[in-house]
Amino acid sequence: MRPNILFIMSDDHAANAISCYGAGLNRTPHLDRLANEGMRLDRCYVTNSICTPSRASILTGTYNHVNCVTTLDTHIDNRLPNVARHLRAAGYQTVLFGKWHLGEGAAHQPTGFDEWSVLPGQGEYFDPIMIDPSGPKVERGYATDIITDKCLDFLRRRDPAKPFFMMCHHKAPHRPFVPHPRYAGLFADEDIPVPATFDDDYANRARAASAAKMRIREDMTYEDLGLIQPEGGAEVGDVLLAEWSMRKVPDPEDVGGLKLIDRETGEAYTFNRREDLHRFKYQRYLKRYLRTIAGIDDNVGRLLDGLDAAGLAENTLVIYTSDQGFFLGEHGWFDKRFMYEESLRMPFLVRYPRGIKGGSVSRLIATNVDFAPTFLDYAGAAIPSYMQGVSLRPLFESGAGAGWQDVAYHRYWMHKDAIHNAFAHYGVRDARYKLIYWYNDPLGQAGANAGDEPPEWELFDCEKDPLELVNVADDPSYAEVFAAMLAKLDAKMAEIGDVPEHDSRTVLAARRLAGRQGA
Ligand code: CA
Repeated sequence: MRPNILFIMSDDHAANAISCYGAGLNRTPHLDRLANEGMRLDRCYVTNSICTPSRASILTGTYNHVNCVTTLDTHIDNRLPNVARHLRAAGYQTVLFGKWHLGEGAAHQPTGFDEWSVLPGQGEYFDPIMIDPSGPKVERGYATDIITDKCLDFLRRRDPAKPFFMMCHHKAPHRPFVPHPRYAGLFADEDIPVPATFDDDYANRARAASAAKMRIREDMTYEDLGLIQPEGGAEVGDVLLAEWSMRKVPDPEDVGGLKLIDRETGEAYTFNRREDLHRFKYQRYLKRYLRTIAGIDDNVGRLLDGLDAAGLAENTLVIYTSDQGFFLGEHGWFDKRFMYEESLRMPFLVRYPRGIKGGSVSRLIATNVDFAPTFLDYAGAAIPSYMQGVSLRPLFESGAGAGWQDVAYHRYWMHKDAIHNAFAHYGVRDARYKLIYWYNDPLGQAGANAGDEPPEWELFDCEKDPLELVNVADDPSYAEVFAAMLAKLDAKMAEIGDVPEHDSRTVLAARRLAGRQGA
């Protein structure tokens, strides 16, 4: 019997917020169970660190310049083939419950699924509207519980004559990080450890780092932090977006006049020092975020128990991942978008008792473009030639040899979006180094602010500098590494058919003239 495939994906769940990844921020016993009974991937990378494009890559097995879902606003053309269609054609029962975020309406809604029920757009945490082929309805309860209930219900009434492919897509822990009240007491009497780079000053980095509006100190809203937004205009904080009423919690030099009020308990907070306000924001953010993760962990436990009860655990490939990584205060940030490690790295846990050794860890390169070919490989179905990834089955089952892929490619297209002001960039990461080209959209492909920032290169030695604090692109002792990584970037872009914004001969010639590159 071909294996069932249960693909569980959350939204914006950083690997550092799963206890088996070792960051020590929280406890996730049910997710850890998957790692203990299966494999943990330490170098699974996203090809575009943002929700909608990542989902398109997972579904189609292609990069975003091929599936055309390059930004949050470019929804999927559902005439494209996708992995669910191939699995259904191969005899699988295919279902999708939860977040879709690839667009609504006839042109964008899910195809290839026997059943689907999805949140529109980002969806709501409580009493969400969910859309299925018959239309929208309100579902009462908490989104993470509701989505899991739909999956468990399917397990009870599935067609036992067919293997199934189930996508369980949680909305949590996406901003604004709303936990269920049952977790209100979690972390109440403890402080979450503050990352070493929380007070990063962005020296020695490309300008993109200091320009990003993703700072916990300055850019989180009252809603993000579960605080009452006072009545008022600019004096209570800057708006998040010109046409929205949601405002950011201010970061004044003098914190003496600031009073913040908890939305649930009415508790009031005042501050003596600006640094105390910064730490307060960090703790509020992390605790709310980690409480929504507790909801996911418990619900993953329910789903694994459901598999056990149905006698399906042995013959089901179970994957847990997130559509990208997330900053949890590293470099002072929340959010994602960047090719820096916390945002680039996807958590990835996989269990399949018939093929994967329990408690194993892989440090080989994998990306979200590889997921669709992996599903098809396990289903015994042909991997279509349009797909650009590779099956991860050899990696899972310890059969990946010396010829395994050695770079992950990332490209972020939304140059200077109105909320986050993140710059457009692309680059490659191999086992040790990361090369990033901040091309900053000279042709205005993302629509605005074309070419207003000169391009920059960044090179990180992730072994010597795992926190990515020192750009060594212009360090003469890394000239050879720069040239080698540039060659890897060119080879990868040529292989996948993406069009470079740089010309390597010109880049290297200019570096030689500047004395940064040997002959
Ligand atoms: Ca996301």
